[in-house]
Amino acid sequence: MNISSKDYSRLQQLDAAHHLHPFTDHKELRAAGSRIVVRGDGPFVYDSEGNEILDAMAGLWCVNIGYGRHELADAAAAQIRELPYYNSFFKCTVPASVKLAARLVELAPDNINQVFFGSSGSESNDTALRLVRHYWALEGKPEKNIVISRENAYHGSTIAGASLGGMKPMHKQLGGAVPNIVHVIAPYAFEGAEPNESDEAFGLRAARAIEEAILAAGPDKVAAFIGEPIMGAGGVRIPPASYWPEVQRICRQYDVLLMLDEVITAYGRTGEWFAAKTFGITPDTITTAKALTSGYQPLSALLVGDRIASTLVEKGGEFYHGYTYSGHPVCCAVALANLDIIDREALINRVRDDTGPYLSEQLYQKLSGHPLVGETRSVGLMGAVEIVRDKASRLRFEPSGHAATKVRDHAIANGLMVRATGDTIIMSPPLIWTRETIDLAMDRLGTALDLALDDLS
Ligand code: PLP
Repeated sequence: MNISSKDYSRLQQLDAAHHLHPFTDHKELRAAGSRIVVRGDGPFVYDSEGNEILDAMAGLWCVNIGYGRHELADAAAAQIRELPYYNSFFKCTVPASVKLAARLVELAPDNINQVFFGSSGSESNDTALRLVRHYWALEGKPEKNIVISRENAYHGSTIAGASLGGMKPMHKQLGGAVPNIVHVIAPYAFEGAEPNESDEAFGLRAARAIEEAILAAGPDKVAAFIGEPIMGAGGVRIPPASYWPEVQRICRQYDVLLMLDEVITAYGRTGEWFAAKTFGITPDTITTAKALTSGYQPLSALLVGDRIASTLVEKGGEFYHGYTYSGHPVCCAVALANLDIIDREALINRVRDDTGPYLSEQLYQKLSGHPLVGETRSVGLMGAVEIVRDKASRLRFEPSGHAATKVRDHAIANGLMVRATGDTIIMSPPLIWTRETIDLAMDRLGTALDLALDDLS
């Protein structure tokens, strides 16, 4: 079949006929037809109808250096010419994966000196789950294998990822989750705090739910706690400042390993290389993916702390785990070129010192007074706007998610790609955004809020 890439109506028909999309109601999709995205340049993507859309989601939280970077295309092409593939099984390696591992441990917290590569965040969380359980087995405590996570956490879409995650609709479709994973409340003060409870007090209460779960199971049964520093897909839920220090205290007290899922937050999003630094966390593992290559190639890296790594190396023998594409040379070459750009253009400092604080200020000044907005919040270039019916009581519109979906649809029609998660509008733009780009995004989101208010009145 010879299909032109420009024959968009034919592509839409074939998409509906043959392509099952991730996280999609296919009946709805077929009725609406897919948007065909054809090109990207800097902070913008372009669809087949010629619309220019400012991408406030950096694709799917990943295109941190923006679109159209030929340097990454050149890195991929050069690596494909030299060596398109070789594996790292059987005591082999390739230069690009060695260089990338060495580079990542330079950037990572001091206690982290090993890297295990995969192709996606889900795969690396699977690796992390195996490693923490294997660690305790090697330490002579195989019964210490429960992992504590949070409601509404997102840790990926494989069976292990979805089981670690706390999304109920995903659990329902699993037909049996991975056993011994327990979920506790999330540190989401906007919905979770009692009317006269401060955010800080709620943060401590949410952390202590982990302690309660450890005590209920027995500390000798709990292997690890897993958490995203900021819950991304769950709605950019930024924990109160009291939360992470208390979580660390609890993990240390009961000798529970701390697994950080930085698939969204690593490589600059919070204004540091890792959100571990932003929140002062010393984790035993850090899962990373997405912005490692700015999404230009599929690659994930599980960063493994010395405690786990030394047991694995000294006592573990063969670790029966790995992927065909672990340490893929083309993906690693692209990751190195991506990290070079982040470094050279000082994108992380810009987020920390300039655009991050500016986004927070503009969200507040331009949007928080709007009748539909219950709260704005952000850390670095990761932000959220809560959509409510009544600002004082934080009452939502019915049915759940309806109002935020309206805002999102108006935003996209108005040239701004944002996402709606439940009743929350979320954004996570490329780190190349400037103050002017933020101004443009605030204008477009403000218009979308006005149009949604008209619809909902
Ligand atoms: N962990 C977090 C925090 C994520 O946000 C995601 C994806 O959005 C994943 C894991 C899964 O990553 P992937 O989709 O690459 O498997």
